[in-house]
Amino acid sequence: MGIEAQFQKVEEKLYQNRYLVDAGQPHIKIAPHEKPSKNLLAMTHLCPAGCYSEAETGQVEIAADGCLECGTCRVLCEPSGEISWNYPRGGYGILFKFG
Ligand code: SF4
Repeated sequence: MGIEAQFQKVEEKLYQNRYLVDAGQPHIKIAPHEKPSKNLLAMTHLCPAGCYSEAETGQVEIAADGCLECGTCRVLCEPSGEISWNYPRGGYGILFKFG
């Protein structure tokens, strides 16, 4: 067995998960801002699901679909009030496939 067959890429493992979108009810929201803080801007690189992006106008935006609920953005940006973070409603959000 080749080494590639023994090790699966993280992206391939994440692809096994499923996500049920709660349309119109995002579980993470960003507070309106003119210029993002360093922490909020850093989320465009740190979020493992790529949910955060920087708009051309400089503000940070979020598309919470695909969120892995890792809590990184909650730790970095919720205490300052830059984001509000809640778990998705029951039955929605990430459905992890283990193994
Ligand atoms: S909880 Fe984790 S995966 Fe979800 S948006 Fe925040 S950093 Fe990304």
